[in-house]
Amino acid sequence: METKETESVKVFALGGVGEIGKNMYGVEIDSDIFIVDAGLMFPEEEMFGIDIVIPDITYLEANKERVKALFLTHGHEDHIGGIAYVLRKLHIPVYGTRLTLGLVEAKLSEAGLLGRVKLKTIDANSVVKFETTSVSFFRTNHSIPDSVGVAFGTSQGAVVYTGDFKFDQTPVDKYSADIGKMAQLGNEGVLCLLSDSTNAERPGYTGSEKAVGVEISKEFYSAEGRILIASFASNVHRIQQVFDAAYEHGRKVAVVGRSMVKVVDIAYNLGYLHIPDGMLISLQDIDSYPERKVAILTTGSQGEPMAALSRMAKQAHKQVAIRKGDTVIIAASPIPGNETSVSKTIDLLFRAGANVVYYGEKKVHVSGHGSQEELKLMLNLMKPKYFMPVHGEFRMQKAHAKLGEDVGMDRNDIFLVDKGEVIEFQNGVAKHGAKVPAGNVLIDGLGVGDVGNIVLRDRKLLSQDGILVVVITLSKEAKTIVSGPEIISRGFVYVRESEKLIDDSAKMVREIVEQSIREYSIEWSTLKQSVRDALSQFLFEKTKRKPMILPIIMEV
Ligand SMILES: [Zn+2]
Ligand SMILES: [Zn+2]
Repeated sequence: METKETESVKVFALGGVGEIGKNMYGVEIDSDIFIVDAGLMFPEEEMFGIDIVIPDITYLEANKERVKALFLTHGHEDHIGGIAYVLRKLHIPVYGTRLTLGLVEAKLSEAGLLGRVKLKTIDANSVVKFETTSVSFFRTNHSIPDSVGVAFGTSQGAVVYTGDFKFDQTPVDKYSADIGKMAQLGNEGVLCLLSDSTNAERPGYTGSEKAVGVEISKEFYSAEGRILIASFASNVHRIQQVFDAAYEHGRKVAVVGRSMVKVVDIAYNLGYLHIPDGMLISLQDIDSYPERKVAILTTGSQGEPMAALSRMAKQAHKQVAIRKGDTVIIAASPIPGNETSVSKTIDLLFRAGANVVYYGEKKVHVSGHGSQEELKLMLNLMKPKYFMPVHGEFRMQKAHAKLGEDVGMDRNDIFLVDKGEVIEFQNGVAKHGAKVPAGNVLIDGLGVGDVGNIVLRDRKLLSQDGILVVVITLSKEAKTIVSGPEIISRGFVYVRESEKLIDDSAKMVREIVEQSIREYSIEWSTLKQSVRDALSQFLFEKTKRKPMILPIIMEV
């Protein structure tokens, strides 16, 4: 019996699984490769000195001519932050909604790439046709307007990526999620669903953004002095609610912080933010209004040391210093890993005399991601044949997989993938395919990917016990030490208070060098190694520390 083979469909994640951040997914249909999202991640604590992290796109570069397009689900950094790096390597059109592309344009123009990239605006009703597939979209609710999910049509059913979503029955922008369209996709047949796992561990439903607006308005009502309100710059709905509350209570608003100013500007110009005329004031002018007529919208909800709010709390901001009588509303919850810096900022604000309103105590924040019941609803609407939990740490993916089983899926039809793992579909049946290269590309200043494990290991060692440099100059002819050993250290001990230790170390190095001269074995690398070994052992005995030891031997 002869059966006609279907197209080959491959699905993989280059980022966004096993982590929160740098979302990037690949859908390969026969020879065409499509990418969804191109995000960044902020460095983990042990990535010393790294500014941002983006996905490794070696696989896409190696198959450049097969990559057809990049689709963007929404304008958050973990979905669009890596775009300039990706578009430097791949010359492909980029599809996104108006607000998403507005934010992308700003990034491309900073990177000097603006004229070189084809940006194609889509909306929830668009269909983009390729030889191998046609791509459609559905509107979702999330903490930024204009977010969509993406569906790739294939003869085996659709491959659907939800993007970030929750189901908000009373959204701020009045655009509801396209529940009907999701159900329709499900009825037509979904081969594989990639869905947002962020809140898969959280029972129930995520609250509506509207509830936050009510809470913010209450704070505006009771505050007697100035109001400062910190939020994610990208949470356009939250920002709208701040403007609404300010309008309701007759306050003018000043906007502070580079990213906040940028997002407010872009969203306002594109019509996603509604700000009554005359309401925006410049920061310089706040003191010409009575305190109870002023609100300041700022970044710094994550306690970032350099963000405006923590500088204001430390009285180190050029224009605003927190003072007694101020009300500070932190309208965000710390993203995992930022808890310590947020709580430090809250402390600083209290010390400066402010009344601080923050998440946990008051409901001034809700998540933009759906909780368990919403994730189950998505699964029930889409009724996927196969399910791939994405956008989350491994434990969140795992919790999401469990929800898949709860709604009746077979455990074998749920894939908990790592970065680079490929799931391949043929004739409607899934199997594991060959892995593609995947990993982290670290960006430090202008260097893209030049800081690897070895550099990071050195940075880690330096951060733990410091460095000790030994400089010695030899005369090769006369077989004598001309100068040194001189010992310089940073971050190891305070040299002035450790003279004996330094003198003893120098003496020891001198003996080792003299001995090797006597034995006629001035082989640089061996000599350096024996200096390093002996010093390292000596210093560890004396201090229980292991500084990095750098012998420098010069000859004259
Ligand atoms: Zn998002
Ligand atoms: Zn996200």
